[in-house]
Amino acid sequence: MTTNGTIENGLSLPQPVSILEILHHKIFINNDWHQSVSRRTFPVYNPATDEKICDVQEADKADVDKAVEAARAAFQRGSPWRRLDASGRGKLLHKLADLLERDRDILATLETMDTGKPFLLAYFVDLEACIRTLRYFAGWADKIQGRTIPVDESYLCYTVHEPMGVCGAITPWNFPLMMLIWKMGPALCCGNTMVIKPAEQTPLTSLYIGSLIEEAGFPPGVVNILPGFGPTAGSAISHHPDIDKVAFTGSTEIGKLIKEAASASNLKRVTLELGGKNPCIVFADADLEQAVKYAHQGVFFNQGQCCTAASRVFVEEAVYPEFVKRSVDYAKKRLLGDPFEFNTEQGPQIDKKQFNKVLELIQSGKDEGAKLECGGCSVGERGLFIKPTVFSAVTDDMRIAKEEIFGPVQSILKFKHMEEVIQRANSTEYGLTAAVFTESLDKALTVASALQSGTVWINCYNALHAQTPFGGFKMSGNGRELGEYALAEYTEVKTVTIKLSTKKL
Ligand code: ADP
Repeated sequence: MTTNGTIENGLSLPQPVSILEILHHKIFINNDWHQSVSRRTFPVYNPATDEKICDVQEADKADVDKAVEAARAAFQRGSPWRRLDASGRGKLLHKLADLLERDRDILATLETMDTGKPFLLAYFVDLEACIRTLRYFAGWADKIQGRTIPVDESYLCYTVHEPMGVCGAITPWNFPLMMLIWKMGPALCCGNTMVIKPAEQTPLTSLYIGSLIEEAGFPPGVVNILPGFGPTAGSAISHHPDIDKVAFTGSTEIGKLIKEAASASNLKRVTLELGGKNPCIVFADADLEQAVKYAHQGVFFNQGQCCTAASRVFVEEAVYPEFVKRSVDYAKKRLLGDPFEFNTEQGPQIDKKQFNKVLELIQSGKDEGAKLECGGCSVGERGLFIKPTVFSAVTDDMRIAKEEIFGPVQSILKFKHMEEVIQRANSTEYGLTAAVFTESLDKALTVASALQSGTVWINCYNALHAQTPFGGFKMSGNGRELGEYALAEYTEVKTVTIKLSTKKL
């Protein structure tokens, strides 16, 4: 797809579902829909229109307890899920992927209503990634193997990679479905059961997945989905003594709480995918047009609400003025508006809290002396829209160069030498992603090797694949999602040692 939402090969565009009844707004436990124990509900809004979409049942600790009980029962030895052989789990995951493909337009419509992201991007980026990820992990289900290990001659020793048990998943609002599937694919292919809490802003696609889980034929209790708030339902998951692992994607601040809760309860395993303040380094010898385009997409994609956002663009002195000029041209042309319009490139921010935070950081940029090149304010009467904003003359000490903004704000900094830019790029508590643009292989590989970052893109950006591990150095997280590496996050290794009565020859 091109950036303006048309398909290059001439295929007709998918259509959003025009009248969509919200069928799934309750708590999903044991393949059944439940009211919350407290009978409380909470409203979910469309950030493009400020209108309420529906009320959703609000899960709290008592509901988490019910879900954990169901997930534990589904994990017991001899349960239908445990008796299913490994290739059977793969088949179920493929079936789930088939159902996502069948209902792709419904899911993309729901995701757009709930998040405000452009429909075509939800359809072609988010849903495509979900389907590919499910199929990738479906393929792993019957290939998770241990080893036979040579020890001294009177023993035979082998390892088995076993599922961990009940896995909690706490997901964010920026890619609600994709972040869920990143956890669900490996957790289920390894044979675990799940208790999932989607972000309170965006529970609708996760709940829809509950209906597909049942339709695909997963046994009751294998997947349980509980809409609710972080300090209540989320905290109940991270503190639960009978949850064996929790996978979290969200802010670094809450990531720390998750780890504390895991330590204070049962030392459950923890995977964290947290914030980023990602450097994007452009050398003067780079293909400038490509670098400008990727840096633009890198920061503005998904309304800037990405942990991977290219939020510190370091540009070598010689091409700095031209880079800024072209970046401003791109930003000014970026189309804001109704996310269901096919030409729309940028929708609203997710909620008032995030909207205010982004505007406050923009103000700090102005106050601290960065040069506002374009944007810098909200737009429209309805919805939470912020104009694509570009700052030049940004220095390392400014808040916009240090704090994760999570909004459509590009900060462009200047550098002179390679060693200088490496040191500045690494001067952050984060280490999620980084990018380098240059025609020199030598420079690219030197910088890639020096950057403290879980992912380094060379002459590209946001090139994520189901097959490649994703996660952070430093305070950007613990562990890896996707790829073969993700399997280790959802399995325990058991060593079996057998004493032989006769010595091996
Ligand atoms: P943001 O600040 O961008 O909303 P958060 O890190 O607060 O990001 O949210 C990510 C996910 O973490 C959401 O599902 C949210 O409900 C959950 N969450 C928030 N606070 C807590 C908490 N104290 N314990 C567990 N989960 C939480």
